[in-house]
Amino acid sequence: MKVLLAAPRGFCAGVNMAIESLEAALRMFGAPLYVYHEIVHNRYVVNSFRDRGVVFVDDLTQVPEGANLLFSAHGVAPEIRHVARLRRLTAIDATCPLVTKVHLEAIRFAREGHTILLIGHAGHDEVIGTIGEAPEAMILVQDEDEADRLEFPPDAKVAYLTQTTLSVDDANRIIRRLQARFPQLVGPAREDICYATQNRQEAVRALCAGADLVLVVGSQNSSNSQRLRELAAECGVPAHLIDGVGDLDSSWFTGVQTVVVTAGASAPESIVEECLDYLREHHHAEVEIRTVREESVYFPLPRELRS
Ligand code: SF4
Repeated sequence: MKVLLAAPRGFCAGVNMAIESLEAALRMFGAPLYVYHEIVHNRYVVNSFRDRGVVFVDDLTQVPEGANLLFSAHGVAPEIRHVARLRRLTAIDATCPLVTKVHLEAIRFAREGHTILLIGHAGHDEVIGTIGEAPEAMILVQDEDEADRLEFPPDAKVAYLTQTTLSVDDANRIIRRLQARFPQLVGPAREDICYATQNRQEAVRALCAGADLVLVVGSQNSSNSQRLRELAAECGVPAHLIDGVGDLDSSWFTGVQTVVVTAGASAPESIVEECLDYLREHHHAEVEIRTVREESVYFPLPRELRS
């Protein structure tokens, strides 16, 4: 069996920064340390921090007054920052700067009087945070059907933004539909789907030709990992999203000669390595790294943690 190991894959700069922030905060404050939402959407990462005394909460009333708190990589609404202040929490913000960029765009468009069409998935932590910047101005658009159902007068000021981890193809289809319906539509100066999401999708698309199977390492609640699995399936290649080696099913490999292995932006490389070891041991796999794009993005830790 041949394994084509996609590069880039796995941790992005935002996830690296969020995880290093939590490590630094643990060193600085000790346990228990509270995190609003999962620090990143990966079961392995979350459980390993939980074992070290980190408490993940979805409601700040679960955090004792005066405690130390981190905001996750996905960002939070201003209302959550306000509640954290009321509860006298020492809050450190590990929001990815590329999510913050979308928040700032939302604030600007809302100030300019635009109705903002946020292309994204309902219920995702990032989407909830972005909507919270201008809830009265924001309409969530999840697909082309929802785009078709929107109605605005011809002179209405309308802008769009996108979640950072969408399928590039899906987002472009929805944007084109919106532009056709509302020619006055404006958007961000630079695309909101982040470099890491785009690069991982580009690598899967490039490697799918000739592959019999695609394995995406990542958790079910990881949006960018789900998009990688969907992209492979759209390319006609059976694809599975796996949290780790325990999810591998021997029946998937019958008759399979070439497997693409990649990982979502929140999946640790150690889990990828475990999967490769399994494939070497059980299927005599030879692993070739296929680099589709180089990455060198780095985000510094939040100011409070830099010393
Ligand atoms: S996937 Fe993109 S937006 Fe999300 S944390 Fe990584 S770099 Fe930031």
